[in-house]
Amino acid sequence: MNLYEKISAIMADVQYLAKDDKVEFGSTKYKALSEEKVTSIMRAECLKYKLVVFPVSQCANRSGSITHVDVTYRMVNVEDPEEYIEIASCGDGADTQDKGSGKAMTYAFKYMWLRTFAIPTGEDPDKISSAELDAKQAAEEASVPCAGCGKKITDGKKRDGSPWAAADIVKYSSGRFSRPLCPGCQRKAFQAEKAAEGEGA
Ligand SMILES: [Zn+2]
Repeated sequence: MNLYEKISAIMADVQYLAKDDKVEFGSTKYKALSEEKVTSIMRAECLKYKLVVFPVSQCANRSGSITHVDVTYRMVNVEDPEEYIEIASCGDGADTQDKGSGKAMTYAFKYMWLRTFAIPTGEDPDKISSAELDAKQAAEEASVPCAGCGKKITDGKKRDGSPWAAADIVKYSSGRFSRPLCPGCQRKAFQAEKAAEGEGA
């Protein structure tokens, strides 16, 4: 694979990174994506596809307690070392002591991954609610196939139109029909029971 095919393959592998960190100071509270999570996932991808990434130049300047760093990373195709691209990134780190450039580098490194591979993290509150995506992802993972039609049971509606959560659909049908059934297949099972009763009578 060439470098761009590898980047595409990694983009296919890593579709979304959910925030894993809670940042709290004073009355401020928000969810964040840790550098540790991004680095460990992207590191594994780089090993899998034989890519190496390292900084080739950096320029830091400090004003007050904020250190700004501009970094250029080089991404090399291990299978063809002549093939590489350079990626610009930057970061700011707030520190009154000597940790500012380290924090800025950490930030720049994390954003290099997120931007190069166009990984959504739910940072844009107008477009993606990460809590919503996490919930969807969890629901997808927990979803059970219908014993009738084989399709995964998803959130649906009761006969009166009120919402019916997938987990409740599974619970209800497992009790009522002894197997997980989607609302459509429940209706069929119910009709089949009625028809059987009618024949018996
Ligand atoms: Zn079904």
